[in-house]
Amino acid sequence: MDGTPEFDRILIKLSGEALMGDQGFGIKPEMIYYVAKEVAAVHKLGVQVSMVVGGGNIFRGVAGSSAGMDRASADNMGMLATVINSLALCDALEKQGVPTRVQSALPMNQVAEPFIRRKAERHLEKGRAVIFAAGTGNPYFTTDTAAVLRAQELHAQILFKATQVNGVYDKDPAVHKDATFIKKISYMEVLERQLRVMDMTAISLAMDNDLPLQIFDLHTPGNIAKAVCGGEIGTRIYN
Ligand code: UDP
Repeated sequence: MDGTPEFDRILIKLSGEALMGDQGFGIKPEMIYYVAKEVAAVHKLGVQVSMVVGGGNIFRGVAGSSAGMDRASADNMGMLATVINSLALCDALEKQGVPTRVQSALPMNQVAEPFIRRKAERHLEKGRAVIFAAGTGNPYFTTDTAAVLRAQELHAQILFKATQVNGVYDKDPAVHKDATFIKKISYMEVLERQLRVMDMTAISLAMDNDLPLQIFDLHTPGNIAKAVCGGEIGTRIYN
């Protein structure tokens, strides 16, 4: 690893929770600044950067439906939450000098561009970062699945999930003291062992199309750039 990027085009999945910091809800200004700085460092390497942001810091469909809401309505709220996060991240990235566009899977033309695959490609070719908002545009999906979908549509070479944990363990390390860290694992093993690092739909979609996934801790400064330069951090999932 010598500071040279190993990839030309990547997709970074950021969980909504990563933006709330220790607040427990919403967007913490210091966190969005930190995330934008981390992404800007990768953009400066000349890598084409696309992103999907979750919405869990604001609203999750399952939370709404377990409180009695219709699941599809609750999921629509979750998708709107991802738009809020995407707009905040776009603003923070532009403040870091990264030209950025938000494309939404749900049309809201006054707020964001609609998702148009070829237009997104053009943005990336021109050196703009692109944030894909509103997940897949459908209820009953997650932003992990949206990230895999967009990564494939845009021919990203890899999907980085920069998240709250440092990778995959054989069991929950918060509960089991003897949990073992896994550096490399196949998609099928993740599915068979039901390791809940990404949802099963996302893993199987990545498996069907051979999209490599790398999961690592967002909160260690420099980690995204390290991963882009081939650093063996976190867990790599592939065939
Ligand atoms: N969501 C959806 N369809 C999608 C993506 C997301 O309905 O294609 C909704 C769903 O309710 C989800 C919420 O948006 O709970 C926020 O996304 P997610 O839970 O994936 O966010 P994260 O956990 O990454 O913060």
